[in-house]
Amino acid sequence: RTVYVNGEYLPETEAKVSIFDRGFLMADAVYEVTSVLDGKLIDFHGHAVRLARSLTELDMQQPCSESELLEIHRELVKRNNIEEGLVYLQVTRGSDGDRDFVFPPEDVKPTLVLFTQNKPGLADNPAAKKGAKIISIEDIRWGRRDIKTTQLLYPSMGKMMAKAAGCDDAWMVEDGYVTEGTSNNAYFVKNGKIVTRPLSNEILHGITRKAVLRLAAEAQMEIEERLFTIDEAKEADEAFTTSASAFVMPVVEIDGVKLGDGTPGPIAKRLREIYLEESRKTAI
Ligand code: PMP
Repeated sequence: RTVYVNGEYLPETEAKVSIFDRGFLMADAVYEVTSVLDGKLIDFHGHAVRLARSLTELDMQQPCSESELLEIHRELVKRNNIEEGLVYLQVTRGSDGDRDFVFPPEDVKPTLVLFTQNKPGLADNPAAKKGAKIISIEDIRWGRRDIKTTQLLYPSMGKMMAKAAGCDDAWMVEDGYVTEGTSNNAYFVKNGKIVTRPLSNEILHGITRKAVLRLAAEAQMEIEERLFTIDEAKEADEAFTTSASAFVMPVVEIDGVKLGDGTPGPIAKRLREIYLEESRKTAI
């Protein structure tokens, strides 16, 4: 695989980042994942805008312009022959060669790293035909989940807890209300109405969420953005999650309770189709 590190395209075995890098020592880093279908990038601009916002919120320097980022994404997709897969991007605050809680001086440049993941069958994913089984866990993450930082230890543990319970993923619950999935936004559907939590600092502002809600509204589906409990979701007709890497993923079970007949629901299936169709059309 060819990867990108600070201006250079290199074989992955030759790519190097300092052990003093704050991304490594302190998770002082933000990231984006953009999916690739038909060799083209899905919603690149949305990811670039969110990246810029994450960096601004953390007083981190922008590593380069959006058009330069696009060029790097395209170059990696080309060099690694990605038809279906992902481009992972990470920006860290870099390092001045020491460990200190205080941010390094202005002249220390951020570290920019990108790599691709080849995922044939990303769109035609058999997991989406089966639907996901979810457990609920407490949300103990920090209070700025709208910033896409690489502090992914708890979400990672959440996935492991789900796995240990024979499930696929976990939804997190704070003060009695569902925040989001470990790596996705959460929705349920009752009597034809789609319910999802409104945007705030408590959840990531999903790029797929925005696109899917727009497409749902265009398809005359009813949407309500409000807080909801895990018990409400368990009594739903259907449920689903959205993310750039899994698109729209039907949810068929929550904490051992089957939703509907325990197979992917019609609205989740329809939204997945519409989203994939629209994404292929607008990919760049
Ligand atoms: N919430 C969390 C916690 C996530 O990690 C992700 C995926 N990175 C999402 C939501 C979905 O965001 P997006 O649609 O931009 O991938």
